[in-house]
Amino acid sequence: RAKASDMHGKDCVKVAVRVRPFNKRERDAGSHCVVSMVSSSITIQDPRDSQTRRSFCFDYAYWSHSGFSRDRRGLYVPEEEGGRYADQDSVFQDLGEGILDNALQGYNATLLAYGQTGSGKSYSMVGYGPNKGLVPKLCDRLFEAIRENQDTRQCQVIDLLSRGSRTSGALRVREEQHRGFYVEGLRTVPCDSAHQVEQLMEQGTRTRTTAATHMNANSSRSHMLIVLQLKQIFSKESITKQSNINLVDLAGSERQRSSGSEADRLKEGTAINLSLTTLGNVISALADVAVGKKVVHIPYRDSVLTKLLQSALGGNSRTVMIATLSPADICFEESLSTLRYAERAK
Ligand code: ADP
Repeated sequence: RAKASDMHGKDCVKVAVRVRPFNKRERDAGSHCVVSMVSSSITIQDPRDSQTRRSFCFDYAYWSHSGFSRDRRGLYVPEEEGGRYADQDSVFQDLGEGILDNALQGYNATLLAYGQTGSGKSYSMVGYGPNKGLVPKLCDRLFEAIRENQDTRQCQVIDLLSRGSRTSGALRVREEQHRGFYVEGLRTVPCDSAHQVEQLMEQGTRTRTTAATHMNANSSRSHMLIVLQLKQIFSKESITKQSNINLVDLAGSERQRSSGSEADRLKEGTAINLSLTTLGNVISALADVAVGKKVVHIPYRDSVLTKLLQSALGGNSRTVMIATLSPADICFEESLSTLRYAERAK
């Protein structure tokens, strides 16, 4: 495992792409697979033009362990064609463990999930039922580590959805010199088990959905930030280490259709797209800094999302992005744009 202390340049930002199984709608439409992999590089083929294909190289590329069954329609993608079949455990090993190590050493870490709605962001981040995703696995391991370490006394979870968010929706983002950007009036809940974190997350997810309904919006058009604040007190050495683990389930990356949208929806869509664009610009600038390129300006201030993530991205922080996509021809445009976005982070 890479340790933060020997993390150099490019290791600070890791990008993974995960292709979900076909869903019922795609199967019913007789879709075929337009994605192929050779180790960690991924190629996407334009379904309307057999000559047009684009290839991208990432740190990791995954097929899903289930769903590519030997189907009569030939949806099965043979292993020998390349790429890796990864279940939730392998994804955690690749992406989660480094984040945990970093946090335990007192450095910040950020995990982002980017992709079209329905492409598997929540599946990867949170998971469904017994298929626990990165966040609950990370919490399990975090509390294991805390139990193993007698010196560690305190751990807190900051719940970014304050009680008021259900009705008012609007919390102030403020800036202070020593603290940077922060959200005023957030609820902080001390936690002493992974189970408790899981319950808070369920509550948060419910609030996210309710708040979206109140605002006549879709919850996939909002970002969800989970911040685990870890404070480790090593009493023997009188050292305190404090680190944040930021877990970000981003809004769906699909473009809003301009026709048939109400003005509000469009405005919301524009704000979301702006924040995703700005995040892409910030990560891309940081990736340049990491490989020693000269970067004049990192545009944190261009969106609320990047303001809040400013201390989480860059510096000693480790950033992992998992970009999720559908294998199907009918999602070609969105999948290509997801791959382009993820490529900029490298
Ligand atoms: P998003 O959060 O991007 O809108 P979801 O995570 O809700 O998308 O995924 C949509 C559906 O696809 C869910 O039913 C989920 O269980 C399924 N799914 C997504 N990724 C995978 C995967 N890697 N393996 C199996 N099922 C998946």
